[in-house]
Amino acid sequence: MISKRNLVFLGAPGAGKGTLAQILCQEMKLAHISTGDILRAEIKNGTELGKKAQSYVTSGGLVPDDLVADMVAKRLLEKDCQNGFVLDGFPRTVNQADLLEKALAKIGKKLDGVVYFEATEEILIKRLTARLMCRKCNSIYNTLFTPPKNKGVCDKCGTELFQRPDDSLETAKDRLKIYNEQTAPLVPYYKAKKMLSTIQAEQPKDKSYPELIKVLS
Ligand SMILES: [Zn+2]
Repeated sequence: MISKRNLVFLGAPGAGKGTLAQILCQEMKLAHISTGDILRAEIKNGTELGKKAQSYVTSGGLVPDDLVADMVAKRLLEKDCQNGFVLDGFPRTVNQADLLEKALAKIGKKLDGVVYFEATEEILIKRLTARLMCRKCNSIYNTLFTPPKNKGVCDKCGTELFQRPDDSLETAKDRLKIYNEQTAPLVPYYKAKKMLSTIQAEQPKDKSYPELIKVLS
Protein backbone atom coordinates (compact mmCIF):
# COMPACT_ATOMS: atom_id res chain seq x y z
CA MET A 1 0.00 0.00 0.00
CA ILE A 2 1.05 3.60 -0.45
CA SER A 3 0.75 6.36 2.14
CA LYS A 4 1.08 9.36 -0.20
CA ARG A 5 -2.13 9.55 -2.20
CA ASN A 6 -2.71 13.18 -3.20
CA LEU A 7 -0.09 13.62 -5.88
CA VAL A 8 1.32 15.76 -8.65
CA PHE A 9 3.31 14.09 -11.44
CA LEU A 10 5.93 16.35 -12.95
CA GLY A 11 8.13 15.79 -15.98
CA ALA A 12 8.98 16.83 -19.52
CA PRO A 13 6.94 15.64 -22.51
CA GLY A 14 8.23 12.17 -23.37
CA ALA A 15 9.17 11.32 -19.76
CA GLY A 16 6.36 8.76 -19.60
CA LYS A 17 4.58 10.13 -16.54
CA GLY A 18 1.15 9.64 -18.13
CA THR A 19 1.72 5.92 -18.60
CA LEU A 20 2.84 5.41 -15.00
CA ALA A 21 0.02 7.61 -13.70
CA GLN A 22 -2.46 5.38 -15.51
CA ILE A 23 -1.01 2.17 -14.02
CA LEU A 24 -0.79 3.64 -10.51
CA CYS A 25 -4.33 5.03 -10.57
CA GLN A 26 -5.75 1.73 -11.73
CA GLU A 27 -3.91 -0.33 -9.10
CA MET A 28 -4.37 2.04 -6.17
CA LYS A 29 -7.85 3.30 -7.10
CA LEU A 30 -6.78 6.92 -7.43
CA ALA A 31 -8.37 9.43 -9.79
CA HIS A 32 -6.19 10.35 -12.80
CA ILE A 33 -6.80 14.05 -13.36
CA SER A 34 -5.86 15.89 -16.54
CA THR A 35 -6.80 19.55 -16.80
CA GLY A 36 -7.71 19.20 -20.47
CA ASP A 37 -10.46 16.73 -19.53
CA ILE A 38 -11.75 18.99 -16.74
CA LEU A 39 -11.87 22.02 -19.01
CA ARG A 40 -13.75 20.13 -21.72
CA ALA A 41 -16.25 18.72 -19.17
CA GLU A 42 -16.94 22.10 -17.54
CA ILE A 43 -17.49 23.72 -20.92
CA LYS A 44 -19.67 20.87 -22.14
CA ASN A 45 -21.81 20.96 -18.97
CA GLY A 46 -22.19 24.72 -19.23
CA THR A 47 -21.22 25.34 -15.60
CA GLU A 48 -20.44 28.81 -14.32
CA LEU A 49 -16.69 28.09 -14.48
CA GLY A 50 -17.17 26.45 -17.87
CA LYS A 51 -18.89 29.54 -19.30
CA LYS A 52 -16.06 31.76 -18.08
CA ALA A 53 -13.48 29.40 -19.58
CA GLN A 54 -15.40 29.21 -22.85
CA SER A 55 -15.14 32.97 -23.32
CA TYR A 56 -11.34 32.74 -23.26
CA VAL A 57 -11.23 29.68 -25.52
CA THR A 58 -13.56 31.32 -28.05
CA SER A 59 -11.43 34.44 -28.27
CA GLY A 60 -8.35 32.26 -28.80
CA GLY A 61 -6.79 33.13 -25.45
CA LEU A 62 -5.48 30.99 -22.62
CA VAL A 63 -7.76 30.21 -19.71
CA PRO A 64 -6.33 32.15 -16.73
CA ASP A 65 -4.44 30.20 -14.07
CA ASP A 66 -6.78 31.05 -11.20
CA LEU A 67 -9.79 29.80 -13.15
CA VAL A 68 -8.02 26.51 -13.94
CA ALA A 69 -6.95 26.11 -10.29
CA ASP A 70 -10.58 26.60 -9.17
CA MET A 71 -11.76 24.01 -11.68
CA VAL A 72 -9.16 21.52 -10.47
CA ALA A 73 -10.15 22.08 -6.83
CA LYS A 74 -13.81 21.58 -7.73
CA ARG A 75 -12.96 18.34 -9.54
CA LEU A 76 -11.03 17.07 -6.51
CA LEU A 77 -14.19 17.30 -4.39
CA GLU A 78 -15.81 14.57 -6.48
CA LYS A 79 -16.27 11.12 -5.01
CA ASP A 80 -13.63 9.32 -7.08
CA CYS A 81 -10.93 11.55 -5.54
CA GLN A 82 -11.68 10.57 -1.94
CA ASN A 83 -9.12 7.80 -2.10
CA GLY A 84 -6.50 10.08 -3.65
CA PHE A 85 -5.60 11.59 -7.02
CA VAL A 86 -2.79 12.16 -9.48
CA LEU A 87 -2.63 15.55 -11.16
CA ASP A 88 -0.99 14.90 -14.53
CA GLY A 89 0.10 18.01 -16.43
CA PHE A 90 -0.91 20.56 -13.78
CA PRO A 91 0.55 22.76 -12.37
CA ARG A 92 2.74 23.77 -15.32
CA THR A 93 4.16 26.95 -13.80
CA VAL A 94 5.19 28.23 -10.38
CA ASN A 95 2.24 30.64 -10.43
CA GLN A 96 -0.16 27.73 -11.04
CA ALA A 97 1.48 25.80 -8.19
CA ASP A 98 0.88 28.70 -5.78
CA LEU A 99 -2.73 29.00 -6.91
CA LEU A 100 -3.23 25.24 -6.60
CA GLU A 101 -1.99 25.27 -3.01
CA LYS A 102 -4.45 28.04 -2.14
CA ALA A 103 -7.33 26.36 -3.97
CA LEU A 104 -6.62 23.07 -2.17
CA ALA A 105 -6.46 24.80 1.23
CA LYS A 106 -9.89 26.30 0.54
CA ILE A 107 -11.41 22.82 0.14
CA GLY A 108 -9.48 21.36 3.09
CA LYS A 109 -7.07 19.26 1.03
CA LYS A 110 -3.34 19.26 0.50
CA LEU A 111 -0.76 17.50 -1.64
CA ASP A 112 1.10 14.56 -0.07
CA GLY A 113 3.89 14.61 -2.61
CA VAL A 114 5.22 15.48 -6.04
CA VAL A 115 6.90 12.89 -8.24
CA TYR A 116 9.43 14.15 -10.74
CA PHE A 117 10.19 11.92 -13.74
CA GLU A 118 13.74 12.70 -14.71
CA ALA A 119 15.17 11.95 -18.17
CA THR A 120 17.96 13.40 -20.31
CA GLU A 121 17.09 15.65 -23.23
CA GLU A 122 18.58 13.04 -25.58
CA ILE A 123 16.14 10.34 -24.43
CA LEU A 124 13.17 12.74 -24.50
CA ILE A 125 13.95 13.78 -28.09
CA LYS A 126 14.30 10.13 -29.13
CA ARG A 127 10.92 9.26 -27.62
CA LEU A 128 9.11 12.32 -28.99
CA THR A 129 10.32 11.67 -32.53
CA ALA A 130 9.93 7.88 -32.56
CA ARG A 131 6.61 7.66 -34.39
CA LEU A 132 6.51 6.89 -38.12
CA MET A 133 3.43 6.35 -40.26
CA CYS A 134 2.50 4.83 -43.59
CA ARG A 135 0.47 7.09 -45.87
CA LYS A 136 -0.87 4.22 -47.89
CA CYS A 137 -2.12 1.69 -45.28
CA ASN A 138 -2.03 3.90 -42.11
CA SER A 139 0.27 1.50 -40.21
CA ILE A 140 2.03 3.13 -37.26
CA TYR A 141 5.59 2.28 -36.20
CA ASN A 142 7.75 3.34 -33.28
CA THR A 143 11.48 3.38 -33.99
CA LEU A 144 12.21 2.50 -30.32
CA PHE A 145 9.61 -0.18 -29.57
CA THR A 146 8.05 -1.41 -32.82
CA PRO A 147 10.44 -0.48 -35.66
CA PRO A 148 9.78 -1.59 -39.26
CA LYS A 149 11.90 -4.54 -40.45
CA ASN A 150 13.54 -2.38 -43.11
CA LYS A 151 14.45 1.13 -42.04
CA GLY A 152 11.94 3.74 -43.21
CA VAL A 153 9.77 1.28 -45.17
CA CYS A 154 6.31 -0.12 -44.29
CA ASP A 155 6.36 -3.86 -43.48
CA LYS A 156 2.87 -4.39 -44.89
CA CYS A 157 2.91 -2.52 -48.18
CA GLY A 158 6.52 -1.45 -48.81
CA THR A 159 5.68 2.27 -48.92
CA GLU A 160 8.18 4.80 -47.61
CA LEU A 161 7.23 5.89 -44.05
CA PHE A 162 6.76 9.50 -43.03
CA GLN A 163 6.81 11.53 -39.83
CA ARG A 164 3.87 13.74 -38.88
CA PRO A 165 4.77 17.38 -38.10
CA ASP A 166 3.61 16.74 -34.48
CA ASP A 167 6.34 14.12 -34.13
CA SER A 168 9.11 16.07 -35.85
CA LEU A 169 12.42 17.03 -34.28
CA GLU A 170 11.47 20.69 -34.55
CA THR A 171 8.21 20.21 -32.61
CA ALA A 172 10.00 18.10 -29.98
CA LYS A 173 12.60 20.83 -29.45
CA ASP A 174 9.89 23.51 -29.19
CA ARG A 175 7.97 21.49 -26.61
CA LEU A 176 11.08 20.90 -24.52
CA LYS A 177 12.05 24.56 -24.71
CA ILE A 178 8.64 25.59 -23.35
CA TYR A 179 8.89 22.93 -20.65
CA ASN A 180 12.38 24.12 -19.63
CA GLU A 181 11.30 27.75 -19.46
CA GLN A 182 7.91 27.38 -17.78
CA THR A 183 7.65 24.06 -15.96
CA ALA A 184 11.19 22.99 -14.98
CA PRO A 185 11.34 25.70 -12.25
CA LEU A 186 8.77 23.59 -10.36
CA VAL A 187 11.53 21.07 -9.57
CA PRO A 188 13.49 23.40 -7.22
CA TYR A 189 10.16 24.91 -6.07
CA TYR A 190 8.81 21.61 -4.75
CA LYS A 191 12.27 20.50 -3.60
CA ALA A 192 12.42 23.57 -1.35
CA LYS A 193 9.05 22.55 0.11
CA LYS A 194 10.50 19.05 0.75
CA MET A 195 7.74 17.50 -1.33
CA LEU A 196 9.74 16.18 -4.29
CA SER A 197 10.64 12.55 -5.05
CA THR A 198 12.62 11.79 -8.20
CA ILE A 199 12.14 8.73 -10.42
CA GLN A 200 14.58 7.89 -13.20
CA ALA A 201 12.26 7.88 -16.20
CA GLU A 202 14.80 6.41 -18.61
CA GLN A 203 14.37 2.85 -17.37
CA PRO A 204 11.57 0.56 -18.56
CA LYS A 205 8.31 0.76 -16.59
CA ASP A 206 8.74 -2.64 -14.92
CA LYS A 207 11.70 -1.01 -13.14
CA SER A 208 10.30 2.48 -12.61
CA TYR A 209 6.91 1.36 -11.27
CA PRO A 210 8.32 -0.44 -8.18
CA GLU A 211 10.53 2.61 -7.63
CA LEU A 212 7.42 4.80 -7.75
CA ILE A 213 5.60 2.63 -5.18
CA LYS A 214 8.65 2.84 -2.91
CA VAL A 215 8.76 6.65 -2.89
CA LEU A 216 5.01 6.81 -2.21
CA SER A 217 5.07 4.30 0.66
ZN1 LIG B 1 1.90 0.60 -45.43
